[in-house]
Amino acid sequence: MEKKDIDWGSLGFGYVQTDKSYVSNFKDGKWDDGVLTPDHTITMSECACVLHYSQSCFEGLKAYTTEDGHIVTFRPDLNAERMMDTCKRLEMAVFPKERFIQAVVDVVKANTAWVPPYGSGATLYIRPFMFGSNSVIGVKPADEYQFRILTTPVGPYFKGGAKPIYIRVSDFDRAAPHGTGHIKAGLNYAMSLHAIVDAHQKGFDENMYLDPATRTKVEETGGANMIFIQGNKFITPKSNSILPSVTRRSLEVVAKDYLGMEVEEREVYLDELSSFDECGLCGTAAVISPVGKINDHGKDICFPSGMEEMGPKTKKLYDTLTGIQMGRIEAPEGWIKVIE
Ligand SMILES: *Cc1c(COP(=O)(O)O)cnc(C)c1O
Repeated sequence: MEKKDIDWGSLGFGYVQTDKSYVSNFKDGKWDDGVLTPDHTITMSECACVLHYSQSCFEGLKAYTTEDGHIVTFRPDLNAERMMDTCKRLEMAVFPKERFIQAVVDVVKANTAWVPPYGSGATLYIRPFMFGSNSVIGVKPADEYQFRILTTPVGPYFKGGAKPIYIRVSDFDRAAPHGTGHIKAGLNYAMSLHAIVDAHQKGFDENMYLDPATRTKVEETGGANMIFIQGNKFITPKSNSILPSVTRRSLEVVAKDYLGMEVEEREVYLDELSSFDECGLCGTAAVISPVGKINDHGKDICFPSGMEEMGPKTKKLYDTLTGIQMGRIEAPEGWIKVIE
């Protein structure tokens, strides 16, 4: 399919409507067959469950053009499984894993003209999401759901190189100990919006959340898991209220099997951060954003890697994982789903 005439390198991270979205509806206890649709709007009851009780969740992954010209996605099975876990926790209908993967393949195939070319740094962002769609006034789960996948081309996350960011220890909490931090619920983002606006107003790029129970341990930021480097160790926080990032789980494998690092997934205390060499945020959007400094109530924790560039180990992790995604480095079995 002929590519759209877009200056891929100057695309930002914003919504651009593509040709088709995928939609499937759950009604009378079952999912319909699902279709690709050119209609990018949704019409529903003013009393739909999602509009009042926020019964919604989402996923995020990307399609890439590899060095040899294939279009691929990265570990969509993990997104499918995570969405199933999320739906169970939110009492939503579960969309089956194999159907999720097939829907991702179908919607990307229908939008290949929008998949940015290799080397542009841009990708096709894939956003599966689901919401309770029928009228509900008493508090209870919906009986009808809509599962959709929209796609939108997004530009290179870092234009002109990955500059380290400056984040702060947040006094707001992200997720309660037995709450919903481990699932990708829209509601987790609703409550983070005030914290992020407040952080930006005060000159910080992001919020680093602590465990609400003791406020001594590092959790994650609003939309990315945290990784730390100490010597040859790759350290990442372990907590029941952290969202299990596909990127972070993949980086653990890259660190161990590709870079020979020692991987520790354990509780990470705020007061040990000053002993770490490098820090990064990881998620699908940026893969890794290097963190140069963390502000803890007026006191800066400065990582030796500084504010000019990614630390050396972080860079190796970044280059190896993006190399695997773009087909320059051999991937572990099952990580790359070839679409065409
Ligand atoms: C989506 C998300 C991430 C990143 O997960 P990936 O699967 O790597 O994209 C991290 N933290 C939170 C809170 C998220 O919602």
